[in-house]
Amino acid sequence: MAVVKSDPKAEGTPQAFDVLVVGAGVGGLYALYRLRQLGYRVRVIEAADNVGGTWYWNRYPGCRCDVESMEYSYSFSDELQQEWHWPERYGTQPEILKYINHVADHFDLRRDIQFNTRIRAARFDEAANRWIVTTDRGEAVTARFCVMATGNLSTPRVPAFKGIERFKGRTYHTGLWPKEGVDFTAQRLAVIGTGSSGVQMIPIVAKQAKHLFVFQRTANFSLPAMHAPLDPAKERQHKATYAERRRAAYDTPFGIAGYPPPTKQALQATPEEREADYQRKWNEGGSISFLYSYTDLLTNKEANDTASEFVRGKIRATVRDPKVAEALCPKDHPIGTKRLILDSDYYETYNRDNVTLVDIRNNPIETITEKGIRLANGEEYEVDAIAFATGFDAMTGALKDIDIEGRGGRNLRQHWQDGPRTYLGLMIAGFPNLFTVTGPQSPGVKSQMILACEHHVDFIAACLQWLDRRGLARIDASDEAEAKWVAHNLQVADSTLYPLANSWYMGANIPGKPRVFMPYVGGVQNYRKKLDEVVAKDYEGFVVGGKVRQAAAAE
Ligand code: NAP
Repeated sequence: MAVVKSDPKAEGTPQAFDVLVVGAGVGGLYALYRLRQLGYRVRVIEAADNVGGTWYWNRYPGCRCDVESMEYSYSFSDELQQEWHWPERYGTQPEILKYINHVADHFDLRRDIQFNTRIRAARFDEAANRWIVTTDRGEAVTARFCVMATGNLSTPRVPAFKGIERFKGRTYHTGLWPKEGVDFTAQRLAVIGTGSSGVQMIPIVAKQAKHLFVFQRTANFSLPAMHAPLDPAKERQHKATYAERRRAAYDTPFGIAGYPPPTKQALQATPEEREADYQRKWNEGGSISFLYSYTDLLTNKEANDTASEFVRGKIRATVRDPKVAEALCPKDHPIGTKRLILDSDYYETYNRDNVTLVDIRNNPIETITEKGIRLANGEEYEVDAIAFATGFDAMTGALKDIDIEGRGGRNLRQHWQDGPRTYLGLMIAGFPNLFTVTGPQSPGVKSQMILACEHHVDFIAACLQWLDRRGLARIDASDEAEAKWVAHNLQVADSTLYPLANSWYMGANIPGKPRVFMPYVGGVQNYRKKLDEVVAKDYEGFVVGGKVRQAAAAE
């Protein structure tokens, strides 16, 4: 293989690498492992002081994965998947972080990771076919390729509430939770936001706080996770069939095997059959399994209404105060069109005497005061602490935070001003040799994220080898291929109910963000076929060119 290696020492400053990976989360770590194994000189730059990405930052109480732990893990090493023991059905944040640290240690990854460093800018040098990247430490690094493993939910966002700086108590964001943890015992606590993070945290902090006020703008659908210790028989059986399960996962819509796909439309069943089916899925726990009740829950509003109403019925049956129950019943979006949440005792928590639901849908937060939170109607809630569970500038935030300049001075923020544009969620036209791991318009956030990362990194690794075998220095997505892929994504999304929800998938949670549906929802199985076809046709839709120059000569 004709890998052209850069020797960082020989070149002094700026340091030169074959591949610069941004981010040491699940995607970045695998990129390092895979590309290093192929002989590339790789450097990972990471803002945090350790590995883990999303699992490093999101340390809020109750944080857990909503994909089962036997699925939510790397598949690249059979030794790893056989030796690792997951204690519970769904991994907790500490357990998953422990696993990621184990991977970093076991595969000796840390030596190529520079921690506590943020990328500020990246510029493509067209003559040299190299990226020149500058960091917040004032260093410059160059690399033939950039792999942006920057995450989809990595830019935490606190809304610009008036008066926020006046608040005398402590404030927290779920995505920037203090490492040492927080004990809310004897405190009056406000949680703002009832997405996955808020819903997971609320039952736990309700047990600590003197009083908990939950500020809810939009009610969300949540199902019981039915957490349990992992059944040893299930673990043994899973481990015995890991390889085939991993393969099978690529042929499923969400990249997760083991859930029998539905065969029937919801309205083909009688109301009694539907009730029984939903109840069975409810008892099993799991969002995919529930959405797999019928074939058309995400495409037919009338079908979806039956599932939505089933869950609303559960909320009404659980929450004792009928007014509170009604406020907790989501009515503005079909179930599953926002991330379907898994919880432990979320609705039950509103039966506690020390918990108050503050419905701010029609009475928004007017200002944060020295002592707490005041609503538009003048009501004020005095609290000692505020936890913002207000989400992220999802999917595009991390990349737009970096000043990225591609071919002919093309600027990423401008290129994406009307919403993200990518080819396959892997490359952006005009930004040669820069790959995005689980970028917008790929199934990433709508699938098992570790599988999505491995899929992309494997694609990138194969692509670099293909280029090197041909002595080619540059690969770029064509504008035409990108435009077609963006249009295809929107067309696929429009054939579903997803665009009906004001979700972060739509950019709807960030004021001023373009309203464009960002993930690819055509299913992992179709996406995998598409990538296979593109490769089989010698990277159809990509433009390749340039001759590889020796790195030293390129500086
Ligand atoms: P989110 O789903 O975006 O939820 C943010 C919440 O904050 C929403 O309830 C939102 O209300 C509210 N909010 C935002 N701005 C507000 C404002 N100005 N005033 C009042 N309320 C405001 O964020 P998240 O809960 O952090 O979850 C993000 C994603 O991370 C999830 O969808 C999921 O994909 C992932 N996640 C996964 C897990 C898991 O695996 N179990 C756990 C946590 C997160 P509106 O809905 O009205 O905008």
